[in-house]
Formats: sequence, C-alpha cells, structure tokens
Amino acid sequence: MTYASVQTELRTALDELRAADLYKIEHRLTSPQSARLVVDGREVLNFCSNNYLGLADHPAVIDAAKHALETRGFGMASVRFICGTQTEHADLESRLSTLLGTDATILYSSCFDANGGVFATLLDERDAVLSHTLNHASIIDGIRLSKARRHRYRTLTELETQLSTPARRRLIVTDGVFSMDGSIAPLRDICDLADRYDAMVMVDDSHAVGILGPTGAGTPELLGVQDRVDIVTGTLGKALGGASGGYVSGHAEIVELLRQHSRPYLFSNALPPAIVAGALAALDLAADPSRRVALHRNTATFRTRMERSGFHLLPGERPIVPIMFGDAGDAARVAELMRRSGVYVTAFSYPVVPMGEARIRVQISSEHSRDDLDRCVAAFVAARDAELVRRT
Ligand SMILES: *Cc1c(COP(=O)(O)O)cnc(C)c1O
Repeated sequence: MTYASVQTELRTALDELRAADLYKIEHRLTSPQSARLVVDGREVLNFCSNNYLGLADHPAVIDAAKHALETRGFGMASVRFICGTQTEHADLESRLSTLLGTDATILYSSCFDANGGVFATLLDERDAVLSHTLNHASIIDGIRLSKARRHRYRTLTELETQLSTPARRRLIVTDGVFSMDGSIAPLRDICDLADRYDAMVMVDDSHAVGILGPTGAGTPELLGVQDRVDIVTGTLGKALGGASGGYVSGHAEIVELLRQHSRPYLFSNALPPAIVAGALAALDLAADPSRRVALHRNTATFRTRMERSGFHLLPGERPIVPIMFGDAGDAARVAELMRRSGVYVTAFSYPVVPMGEARIRVQISSEHSRDDLDRCVAAFVAARDAELVRRT
C-alpha cells in the first residue's frame, strides 16, 4: 500500500478539524515563561500558563540549574538503576516525601509517565480501578496499560455502587484539581467510601501541588486527608518551576515495587541534573507562603471582576478560572481578539472538554499585578462586545 491513499484520508481529517474550529495552533514565544510574554514578536500579558507561582524564570531557580550544569553535567545518559542516580535525585525524592507527608517518592520524566507506570505495577485482572470521568488523559492511558477492570464514575453515588463489585484490590483514582473545570475532588467523602469498602485512594495533584494547602502540599492537605490517601502523583512541570518531571509518592512498599517493575521508570532516562536542582530550588521558594497568598488574592479579585462584568464562570476559588462560552467558534474568536489586543488566553474545545462546553481557561499567577488583572478583564469585555457586534 502506498502512502497516497492514507495521505488523502489524513488531509481530510485535518481539514475537518479546521472546519470545526478544533484545529490547534502553536504560537511561538521568544521570551521565558512569565506573567509577560513575547508571542509572535509582540509583548502580551500571559493568562494561560501553569506557572502559578512565577518560578519558571525565577533567578534562584536558574542559578541552581546553572550550578548543577557546571558541577553535575548536562545529562545522565542512563536510566536510574544502571548509573543514573545522583545524590540530588535522592534528595529531591526525600524533599517531596517531606512536603507530601508520605513514606517515599519516586521520580519520573513526567507525571504522564508516573501515571503510565503506577496501575500496571499494582493491579491485574483480579483488581478494579474506579476512575472519575474527568480525570487527566495520562490516568486514562495508565489504566489502559493495566489489566484491571475499569469503572468510570461521575458522582459519589456511582462510585459507591461500583465499589461494591468484588475484587482483590480496589483503587479509586481522581485528579485533586480538575484541569479543565478548576474544581476540587471531594476527597473526604472519597476517603470515607474507601474506608467503608476497603479500597485504596490515589490522587493526581498536578494542578494543586505547591498551590493548595497551608504548606502547598496540595488537595489532601487542604481537605485534611493527607494520612488517608495511599498514592499521590504530581508534576514538577507546573507550579514547581515548570520544567519537567513527575512523581509517585506514598507507602514505602508501593514506591519500592515501582522502582523494580514500573516500565516508564525502568526504561526511560533519569531526569537531567539541572532540572533536579531547579526543582529543589523551586521547592525552597514554594515553602514561603507569600506566593500562595498573592495567588489566591489575585484569583479572588479576578473572579469577582469577571462575574460583575457578566461572564459565566464555573464556580470555585482556584487559580484555574474557566470562562464558559459553549460554542467552540465563539470561544476561539474571543481568545483571538484578546490576543490581538495583547492579552494571551487560550480557548479549549472538544475533545479536550465535552462537546458544547467550549471555554477560555484563564490561569492566574502570583506574579500578576492589579493592573494586569484589570487589563485582562477589560480585554474580555472588549472582545465579547466586538463579537456581539459582529453577529448583529
Ligand atoms: C499536567 C498534568 C499531567 C501531566 O504532567 P506532565 O508532568 O506534564 O506529564 C498529569 N496529570 C494532571 C492532572 C495534569 O494536570
């Protein structure tokens, strides 16, 4: 078979995406990740990164990474167990365990890999995994890589029904903060159900670590269930410096077994020294609560102003603020108008969110000034008004 017929099909698929306003474009930055960006050659305000605490270009993080480059080299050229573990890898793992209040932690190249490695190591066809319908793609894929029976729940009532199915092991898995809605998983209720039905609880806290809870330990800390959650996964690629890396943290035996059997850990390179050192510096900075305080204050200010301006926001208090439009074209056009006026936001549509629930997901940073927030609200209002005029 020649490529020609496949090519026609693929081009049709791409044309269909464009026609449905579902085609994603990558804008080229020529600046560091920060509250202000240079995008396509222009300075814009940034309201769409996961750089919640402004650590992605923090001088202390950069200095730590530079120092590691000079003293520990550029890359490891090995997986961890052959000759790829430096003392700093172990330091970072123990620092994360201290933050999260767990026995032990294992690093991966990303949280995508962490979630890809955890299920198949712990579960087989005798077991059941109960996963929230809005969980991150990496959880869905990680579950698929295991032989466990899969259940998808939306409500606690559904979860309870599914928990009564017989299985050797039951694992409930949920995002701590759902990335497209900004809502928080009801971990206390989930832990109560887990106790009643003898299940384990796993939380992917990628959008909460460093941000939520008095010490930044995330959703379990915020909701007072740190000692009732069995497994926490998360990323170093968001609030904690934003470079890359992920982890699984929890009971000692679970982490020990992952080091022996988990495929993305065993068969993929160790994190580079500069990333490890930068993440350690980011953890030091995140230990100071002042960035979290500024982040939550900015979020409250922005939410209030947007609601007063008549926008439909998904409720909540989190720095993920979804502005709902419904129609993918509307969301995309408003985002485009805002970008042209110097405020960088991104529209999300199917398949990233359900069909008909297109939105602009605003993400607040501790580094936004009052003026930045005002300019963002003003750009939303101007773009919405221009879009209404266009229609009439
Ligand atoms: C961002 C995110 C991931 C992926 O993290 P990476 O380290 O970039 O692979 C996984 N899970 C959730 C819930 C996320 O928000």
